[in-house]
Amino acid sequence: MSKKTYQSAFPFSARSYDMTPYVDCPNWINGEARGAQSGAQEPVLNPRHAAELGRVAWSGYADVDAAVAAARAALPGWRDTPMKERAQVLYRLKSLMEEHLEELSWLVSHENGKTFEESKAEVLKGVECAEYGASLPNIAQGEQLDVSRGINCEVTHEPVGVCAGVVPFNFPTMVPLWMLPQALVAGNTFVLKPSEQVPYGALRLAELFEAAGLPKGVLNVVNGGREVVEALCDHPDIKALGFVGSTKVARLVYERASKAGKKVVCLGGAKNHLVVVPDAELALTADTVVASSYGCAGQRCMAASVMVAVGDVQRIIDRVVEKAKAIRLGQDVGPITNAASVARIERYISEAEAAGARVLVDGRGAKVAGAGGYWVGPTVIDGVSPGAPAACDEIFGPVLSIVRVKTLDEAIAIENASPYGNAAAIFTTSGAVARYATERFSAGMCGVNIGVPVPREPFAFGGWNDSKFGHGDITMTASASGPARAR
Ligand code: NAD
Repeated sequence: MSKKTYQSAFPFSARSYDMTPYVDCPNWINGEARGAQSGAQEPVLNPRHAAELGRVAWSGYADVDAAVAAARAALPGWRDTPMKERAQVLYRLKSLMEEHLEELSWLVSHENGKTFEESKAEVLKGVECAEYGASLPNIAQGEQLDVSRGINCEVTHEPVGVCAGVVPFNFPTMVPLWMLPQALVAGNTFVLKPSEQVPYGALRLAELFEAAGLPKGVLNVVNGGREVVEALCDHPDIKALGFVGSTKVARLVYERASKAGKKVVCLGGAKNHLVVVPDAELALTADTVVASSYGCAGQRCMAASVMVAVGDVQRIIDRVVEKAKAIRLGQDVGPITNAASVARIERYISEAEAAGARVLVDGRGAKVAGAGGYWVGPTVIDGVSPGAPAACDEIFGPVLSIVRVKTLDEAIAIENASPYGNAAAIFTTSGAVARYATERFSAGMCGVNIGVPVPREPFAFGGWNDSKFGHGDITMTASASGPARAR
């Protein structure tokens, strides 16, 4: 007989896509749910239904200051807790997340819009991040050497202090877990700023962490928008900051927080190229391109958005078109995050068409019965010119732009010319071609016959160029140790 070990103060009852209103989303400061000090709130919408799930606390500097004060007060006790004991919290978090997997997955689906299966995959990926955090004591022993008679040098790992994380709308549960396990196991305390579009995943994580034994004040959540982020960048008691979101904001946050003297790493947007050559395997390539382009409605920083077709790969394009048309909107692919994003995505499609590209599959104006939310169907645009906005800008929707070239070198030159550099992949059955391309791509994460080349722990996640600002890894900068000490 299974026994529930944790009862949420905010249970979410939905077990289907039916509209299910939820609670108002408070901040979480020093282990307490609190509204913004000003009392301000903003609506949070379920994108499938364009209806209000609840309202989120809209915080300001005073709320950030209260959260930082709580994190600072909790630091000495947490820092002095042995690492092996801190790691126990992650073991318990993992089992609590597994126990509540279904509920947490439905919550992700309702706040973000992605399908239940995609949401479950996200939560499970978060569980893997917790597992990695739990393993840190095994790899963070430090070093020591007797350097002279009676004198030894020791390298120890020290927490940096109060850290902050700012996260995007597209992975409300997983992206916070890119930062929290490592930061907390390493002895830091934390202030998290979720996306105002999807604040609930972070609230539930804060509650779960506490149920798993994390002392009050070690993890705090402050909701809101730009004002909260700027306060986190400027606050003198925050020592490190991790950001994940668009390139425009990543750059701003990187500059502002660095200027304030913090350790900073900011992951930004992407425009990922999948290069397909004539010897590519038909079924694998078409399946993978389609899954990469339309999974999570294309709202992933690892989504394929440009297929660079080298030479005659018409059979693969035909299969991609066939599979894109077969996608059941609402079941296989969820909605777009909001009305403004639908308008932006549709504008890119229309502009590409007006410039002479052919829209082979057209997702504009899509509707889903019984779901009056924000929809764009899978879209394939062929003959996009390499310099066109649809081939260069991050559209962040279910749109695949096909750029046709004659040679592999032309394809690589197009990938290299992108200011982004998150991911790139080559589809080929030739090992030599795979090596040639991956050695020349200007992207941090490269795949061979893989559409979403996400490194798994313990390998780090992160792009190059305008897809990342700062040094170190997202899993480590807001978390890892400070300077090594000799004593
Ligand atoms: P966003 O940049 O609009 O928002 C991210 C965070 O920044 C949110 O918490 C938001 O409240 C805050 N913010 C927004 N505008 C701000 C401003 N002017 N000043 C300070 N803070 C501000 O991103 P989004 O729309 O939530 O997420 C989608 C973007 O995130 C895409 O570009 C996607 O590629 C990127 N992303 C990147 C990765 C990665 O690993 N590189 C992962 C996930 C998402």
